[in-house]
Amino acid sequence: MSPEELLRNRGLRVTRPRLAVLEVLAGGGHLEVEEIAAQARSKLDSVSTQAIYDVLSALSRAGLARRIEPAGSAALYENRAGDNHHHVVCRGCGAIGDVDCVVGDAPCLEPSAAHGFVIDEAEVTFWGLCASCQAKPEI
Ligand SMILES: [Zn+2]
Ligand SMILES: [Zn+2]
Ligand SMILES: [Zn+2]
Repeated sequence: MSPEELLRNRGLRVTRPRLAVLEVLAGGGHLEVEEIAAQARSKLDSVSTQAIYDVLSALSRAGLARRIEPAGSAALYENRAGDNHHHVVCRGCGAIGDVDCVVGDAPCLEPSAAHGFVIDEAEVTFWGLCASCQAKPEI
């Protein structure tokens, strides 16, 4: 599906900033807003960081982007939305990797006590040291 169709499918107007941000996110990874803004600016004449925030929140609400915010990190956005995947985060350098659901569909983990809630998501973050941080000598 083209980016234009993705936007129209979700009831969003097609605008150049939205297309630029979708294109940046399609490059993969988990990106900070400033990084997305810098890359979008290389595709558009000029766009404010506030406009990028607005685009990202519209895309997130529409299910075209996902926002994650591991403890100690800035908010990060990715285009892999809607599959409830999880993340592994490096304690040393903050590197992030995607981890597929371990068991089945969301919420994929059942709480031992649901307190009467209908549970629809389990946000799981695996913490550890990435390969390059493991190779660094201890300071
Ligand atoms: Zn690391
Ligand atoms: Zn991810
Ligand atoms: Zn899962």
